[in-house]
Amino acid sequence: MNNKQEKIVEILIKKGKKLLNQPYKRIIFTKNSDANDLLNDIENYPHVFVLACMMNRQIKAERAWLISYEISNEIGGFEFFRFLTISQEEFREMFMRKNLHRFNDTMAKNFYLGIQKLHKDYNNDASNIWKGKPRSATVVKRFLEFKGVGVKIATMAANILAREFKIPMSDYICIDISPDTHVNRVFKRLGFISKSASDHELIYAARELNPEYPGIFDLSCWEIGRKWCKPKKPDCDNCYLYRYCPRKI
Ligand code: SF4
Repeated sequence: MNNKQEKIVEILIKKGKKLLNQPYKRIIFTKNSDANDLLNDIENYPHVFVLACMMNRQIKAERAWLISYEISNEIGGFEFFRFLTISQEEFREMFMRKNLHRFNDTMAKNFYLGIQKLHKDYNNDASNIWKGKPRSATVVKRFLEFKGVGVKIATMAANILAREFKIPMSDYICIDISPDTHVNRVFKRLGFISKSASDHELIYAARELNPEYPGIFDLSCWEIGRKWCKPKKPDCDNCYLYRYCPRKI
């Protein structure tokens, strides 16, 4: 790594730590304010957040985050016991009728199985997944145990819990960077990975750059990608990494 890359890493880590240490701020998951209120209330309705995380597969995030809210409206409330009384077939009917997901059949089943798992393994309280200052590996592993949840969702969920909800964890070693399209593009243009690099290369590059918390680059790179480092015509002049970036566009 050359001096300029070292400087970029230093800036991004500083920015990431600032985001991690700033007080909790309401998260804007969707354009629907009521849904955001519900998803932010992990003290009273932690299952709504967990189930919404599970739906984040091959559809736009905005749509996925809304699913558990839409289901809550269908079943007359947000409390866990209401979800627990619904059969797999009833969920399937709701998913189909409201066209909640690209894969309605599979995701209705995963949604149902997720509720059953929260009932059996977490005593009807999804916050038991992250209670008691667990290791980051424990949180990621617990999310992975839900049907249909892969590494991408599990690390995204752990990252949101640590960084946004300020859930204490005893370490951040297993909170990887999320291979989001903006993050990917920024890492390539910064020269940390090649233009043809896979998601795995991105994940390992972040681990190499900051092993204590690889996911620390997530939000700052996502923000750079959204604001300045756009797919076409990046606004390098206004990007705060301009001085050091090799601009591999
Ligand atoms: S300087 Fe340009 S290429 Fe580099 S990260 Fe910023 S916007 Fe992207």
